[in-house]
Amino acid sequence: MAPTSRNRTRHIETLAVHAGQPVDPATSAVASPIYLSTTFERGVEGDYPHGFSYSRDDNPNRAALESCVAALEGGGHALAFPSGIAVAAAVLQALRPGDHVLAPSDVYHGFRKAVNGVFDHMGLQTTYVDFSDPANVAGALRANTRLIWMETPSNPLLQITDIAAIAEIARKAGVTTVCDGTFATPVLQQPLELGVDMVAHSSTKYLAGHSDVVGGVLICRKENAVFDHARRSQRLGGAVPSPFDCWLTLRGIATLPCRVRVQATSALAIAEFLNQHRRVERVFYPGLASHPGHETARRQMSMFGGVLSFLVKGGASEAMQVAGSTEVLIRATSLGGTHSLIEHRASTEGPGSRTPQNLLRLSIGLENTEDLIADLDEALACLR
Ligand code: PLP
Repeated sequence: MAPTSRNRTRHIETLAVHAGQPVDPATSAVASPIYLSTTFERGVEGDYPHGFSYSRDDNPNRAALESCVAALEGGGHALAFPSGIAVAAAVLQALRPGDHVLAPSDVYHGFRKAVNGVFDHMGLQTTYVDFSDPANVAGALRANTRLIWMETPSNPLLQITDIAAIAEIARKAGVTTVCDGTFATPVLQQPLELGVDMVAHSSTKYLAGHSDVVGGVLICRKENAVFDHARRSQRLGGAVPSPFDCWLTLRGIATLPCRVRVQATSALAIAEFLNQHRRVERVFYPGLASHPGHETARRQMSMFGGVLSFLVKGGASEAMQVAGSTEVLIRATSLGGTHSLIEHRASTEGPGSRTPQNLLRLSIGLENTEDLIADLDEALACLR
């Protein structure tokens, strides 16, 4: 909830529709216009009457998106980037050669790829540990640790990190924290309230929500050195999303709370169905009581999200057979959109993937739950 001019607090559903999106003062248009202009006229005194000068520096659609996501996360400021991984890159650019970064062993594979493939010459030290036990994080701290990058729930094993516990370990050690909350969204989890310094999202996923725009956002509780450097990466380094991409993302956000709750309700039912299926070895979903992170997830999330993974009995070929047999679930990577997706994760991650070969990841969309269960049931029946 965010305070208003009337000193009242507004809920996330209201913020998703209104924050950063007043009726257009110039035309009274209810749906915001898209400001494609790259440049803005100066006043006769040489000032910029509306605060905009050049669209790399700032643009009305980007400002609107940033203001909205800051409000959704209960944060002070936000930055919009042209992809989720550009957010991680902007954060890593704030570090110095020799700095140490701690990240979860089950972090999104693109994070490792960015560290190894883009920052390899920077001499960053990186340690990946199992974040589901905060003691592992405390034990891996070094004198030169500058950043703890969390991701919860994690991709693709849906591991849960105790956000408050790790934030406290980091605070005592003077280390900056970022929580990638892409899977949870601000609707289900509010990491800033739990003490982290910044929240990251691939807005490609639930925020935009329709599989038609790539983007990322970084939100801080209050200004800090890493956030300030990320802003320079955005504006001076040129990591800016287009006005149309910002507009599309903001349009998606208006329905975020409704979409996410429907998707999470459906995902729980599907996880329960798969959990008792004889062709399924194991289900990874924090909403299941058997999940090792279930209690922590109950404390820090209001629902458990729309993504789940499961192991098909057998190996890669059985998993591929199941993925190849669905008719409603579409075989594609990514998550958080209206369409349900099924993915053989190890082949997407490629060589060096740590993901089990028999793992399939599901992103549950907005189709009818019974239709999705029937589709999975029929696909699993293809296994002999
Ligand atoms: N963080 C998480 C948890 C993700 O799943 C992804 C992409 O799948 C990213 C970050 C990267 O986002 P993008 O693909 O928008 O660059």
